[in-house]
Amino acid sequence: MPARKKASHSPVTEVTAGKLETYRAKRDFARTDEPSGGSAVSTKRKTTASKGLGDGARFVVQRHRASRLHYDFRLEIDGVLVSWSVPKGPTLDPSTKRLAIRTEDHPLDYASFEGVIPRAEYGGGDVIVWDEGTFLVHQHPDSAAALADGELHLELHGHKLVGHFMLIHTKGSDGPKAQWLMFHKRDGAAVDGWDPEDFPLSVLTGRSNDDVRTDAENPRPLPVDHPELVALDELGASGTWHFGGRELKLTNLGKVLFPASVDEAVTKRDLIRYSARMAPMLLPHLVGRPVNLHRFPNGIAEAGFWNKAVPKHAAEWIGRWDNPHARSGETITYFVASEPATLAWLANYGAIELHPWTSTTEHPDQPSYALFDLDPGDATTWDELLILARLHRTALEHLGVDAFPKVTGQRGIQIWVPIERGPSFQDTTAWVETVSRTVGRIVPELVSWKWNVKDRGGLARLDYTQNAVNKTLVVPYGVRAAPGAPVSTPITWDKLDSAELRPNRWNVRNIAGRIDEFGDPFSGIRTRSQRLPALD
Ligand code: MN
Repeated sequence: MPARKKASHSPVTEVTAGKLETYRAKRDFARTDEPSGGSAVSTKRKTTASKGLGDGARFVVQRHRASRLHYDFRLEIDGVLVSWSVPKGPTLDPSTKRLAIRTEDHPLDYASFEGVIPRAEYGGGDVIVWDEGTFLVHQHPDSAAALADGELHLELHGHKLVGHFMLIHTKGSDGPKAQWLMFHKRDGAAVDGWDPEDFPLSVLTGRSNDDVRTDAENPRPLPVDHPELVALDELGASGTWHFGGRELKLTNLGKVLFPASVDEAVTKRDLIRYSARMAPMLLPHLVGRPVNLHRFPNGIAEAGFWNKAVPKHAAEWIGRWDNPHARSGETITYFVASEPATLAWLANYGAIELHPWTSTTEHPDQPSYALFDLDPGDATTWDELLILARLHRTALEHLGVDAFPKVTGQRGIQIWVPIERGPSFQDTTAWVETVSRTVGRIVPELVSWKWNVKDRGGLARLDYTQNAVNKTLVVPYGVRAAPGAPVSTPITWDKLDSAELRPNRWNVRNIAGRIDEFGDPFSGIRTRSQRLPALD
């Protein structure tokens, strides 16, 4: 993961938010990992790499293999990254002028973005941070004025790009799609015949675009010998820990959260380590979504409580979102976990269970999943629950819908159906209810439709009511507050036929080994775009 220096705080002003409207309108943050720039607090993150490269604002160049390879050149000006797409890439060769097409302003967080944008989305392709550093504008005291004049005399201090560059507006009205020219002046840093393609690796992570694609398509837990994880183990009962470019104050690391049973006790340090290791698996299901916390600060031996609101003492870099639809008395500011360090922070906060919303902060009323929650009653056996799950599998196969099952880590099974944004929660509720009632009619002896648990006679509930705003299910790979620290684990459909499957078979100790062996059955879920077929 990219190393980052301690963050400084930069609230998004209304002016900045307005500049990012185009950026946000083009993207669906339920599907892309790109930063939304939409949370109440954005952060400037200086990378370690840019340290010592001189004063000035930041620039970044991203190598982006979209439908066509190009380089995105971005300058930090007035709270956003002003951007140009340079098809052939910037060069130190002063004899070559490169076309640069102005594109929409990007949020500051974008400067550290490396990843894969799904093919069907805007800018679909893979992105690395090809160069970064600082810049000065020569002819004007402020870069915004030079930008408005359509002529930037730049001095770049990057790893690859150094020296004097000119960026000149040539054609088209200013703003998106305007044509500019970019070239290097003949100075001491100029290099004849210099080709950006000869230097194709990321300055942040040393990865190629191919490496980034491979990592994104096959997320894996961090290795246990990752230096930051080793440093966590070397801390005493409390201390300062550097993880994912952030500084965390950790407390009571030896506190037992899950008492010893068959296995050893699980301490707070163990939970933090798990959250950090599993960040590549957890974050895809959390970014861009409010998350409700089930907290057990004194461990699962005591009753836990739900915590939705971000407390005043939360680190300033923690992502958050103000719900514009909050009614009187409801939580306004929710957590949004968008980087690995947030997961570690939440674990230190005693949040054992993370329950992300089914919708995103951008479109809270439009779910990105239709959810089936197969909830066993007291009298429901595991075999009976498997019958219900297999009947759902058959129904969804018959409908031609791609659906993703997971065990809850407690007793149940859930099925997540990713959908194209559009339908309301009422629509998904109705659709899921219709499918589940069809299944229920085949095995009426196993299912109750009664609202109250005590009226169900111990039978299972096929709960379609989870399809509602601010109703949540535990995140894939999320820990459950139950003995042994079980984990809600994605499975493939064929596992329903395995005699060894149990709803709580995987836990914080053994899940990483399973992923190493079998991969992540949920890895395709976010990029799968489908419409729910009409039911009649
Ligand atoms: Mn691009």
